[in-house]
Amino acid sequence: MSARIIDGKTIAADLRGRITDAVHRLRRDRGIVPGIAVVLVGDNPASEVYVRTKSKAVAEAGMRAFDHKLPASTSEPELITLISELNANEEVSGILVQLPLPKQIDAQRVIAAIDPSKDVDGFHPLNAGRLASGLPALVPCTPMGCVLLAKSVHKSLAGLAAVVIGRSNIVGKPVAQLLLAENATVTIAHSKTNDLPAVCRGADLLVAAIGRAEMVRGDWIKPGATVIDVGINRVPGEGGKPRIVGDVAYAEAMQVAGAVTPVPGGVGPMTIACLLLNTLRAACAQNGLPVPKM
Ligand code: NAP
Repeated sequence: MSARIIDGKTIAADLRGRITDAVHRLRRDRGIVPGIAVVLVGDNPASEVYVRTKSKAVAEAGMRAFDHKLPASTSEPELITLISELNANEEVSGILVQLPLPKQIDAQRVIAAIDPSKDVDGFHPLNAGRLASGLPALVPCTPMGCVLLAKSVHKSLAGLAAVVIGRSNIVGKPVAQLLLAENATVTIAHSKTNDLPAVCRGADLLVAAIGRAEMVRGDWIKPGATVIDVGINRVPGEGGKPRIVGDVAYAEAMQVAGAVTPVPGGVGPMTIACLLLNTLRAACAQNGLPVPKM
């Protein structure tokens, strides 16, 4: 048996198309153009690629991108001053500070300085608390993408046994909160979990957000389960050229699972689409308009 491949690229392209239409209507009917400020500090090559990809997607959706590239020597007060300016700028609906930040800057203090209504990454403690309390919030993009992919397989997630491996604030915890809000029965596993393979074998829906290449093996997966692989890991490929693999041994998972996200082409494209969705939602909320559901 071979599992169904959950085609994140196509699902994300479809969502981006609907967002672009909504942005067009917002501009035409209300004269509002959502804008996102993307702040990059330093010259981490991976961050530069992410930021370029995000800014391109923002422009393609008909939104404005305000790029701020700061030197690696930027101090925390300097960055927080920029955040305050962006908070006050009405053309900026969303603020994204690309992580990681250089070591002299405390990321938590910077995130806390972002106006929560412009926190399109959904990392502000106020948005995290609202999500945990079941209140409307700007929710982190990758977790939102994971849930949309799971819902492309299951009409409803209610009652499913969901296991999330990973408990980071940016992926594991918010995925678990979103799945709970969908009425799944959620287990959060982590590096101290006893007998992780057995815990995973109980999952109808398995989300791996670990950062360890191909750690989840085929015999950890319940036959027919849905597997969402968040991991992005660089490993040596043929001829020494690096290749990207997920946290799940993909070929093995394909033999056992019911549906699997590929890496690349699964969760990654959804993250960008959900960033656009958050920016659109933020712009609508800031202008007193109903927040589009999509
Ligand atoms: P993170 O902050 O490093 O968290 C990793 C989590 O995995 C931690 O909770 C850790 O447990 C757990 N873990 C580590 N080793 C484990 C083990 N041997 N057994 C069980 N659990 C283990 O990473 P993250 O930021 O959440 O990211 C996770 C992965 O997703 C990374 O590969 C990252 O690149 C990828 N990612 C992808 C996207 C995307 O758009 N596709 C976005 C964000 C992240 P403890 O808490 O006990 O240490």
